Amino acid sequence: MLFSWLFPKPRSCAWCGRPSPGGDFCTACRDQLQAWRQRYHPCHYCGRLLLLAKEVICRHCREELPPFRKARAVGPYHGIMKEMIWAFKYQGRRSLAAPLGRLLAGVVVRELGPVRPDLVLPVPLTGARLRARAFNQAGLLALSLGRELDLPVDGDVMARIRETAPQVNLTRRSRWRNLAGAFRVTAPAKITGRNLLLVDDVLTTGATAAACTIALMAAGAASVAVVTLATGIENLS
Ligand SMILES: [Zn+2]
Ligand SMILES: [Zn+2]
Repeated sequence: MLFSWLFPKPRSCAWCGRPSPGGDFCTACRDQLQAWRQRYHPCHYCGRLLLLAKEVICRHCREELPPFRKARAVGPYHGIMKEMIWAFKYQGRRSLAAPLGRLLAGVVVRELGPVRPDLVLPVPLTGARLRARAFNQAGLLALSLGRELDLPVDGDVMARIRETAPQVNLTRRSRWRNLAGAFRVTAPAKITGRNLLLVDDVLTTGATAAACTIALMAAGAASVAVVTLATGIENLS
């Protein structure tokens, strides 16, 4: 006891295992997680990444604003973040839940203010998907984010009734409305008049987050903000 207090075990990086006295990740991994900022900035509304010095609002949001207040991510679905999500989601590396939750918490504090969320909700999986994967990764992320920011988390407010198939030949809004039917708010009393924070691992087109938001707003939520680990890059080509 005294020995470990006098000579604490050096902290190691949650991703690569090298020494990381400064926190969850070593300097090299932290640099990789931040590297996108030299080239991109998030769309003001949906948080998808745009090349610096270009517009502040992406072309999708210029066409139609998303129903959520704002979405933000830790970084692009690329490189180290893509690998970490893969390990967490498909290789069962659950030890990443806490450090990834702390990364999400940082994004919420820095970029989703000033509205403090009343309740944190994970994007639900369907029963079949959940059984196949054994855990809802968004649920684990929501729990560690909630712990970090001292916010209540509820994974039972909303259920996913069916999978959502990609729909072409529809406008963004009608696609969202169609998708919203895939989610059912099972406990509307818990969200009436509340500011909600929706958590997922990846935001690609934003259609899932938009569909959840439409269902939550229709059930009486005051506002919905979205935080994810990763997001898409606009105009990559
Ligand atoms: Zn590392
Ligand atoms: Zn946008």
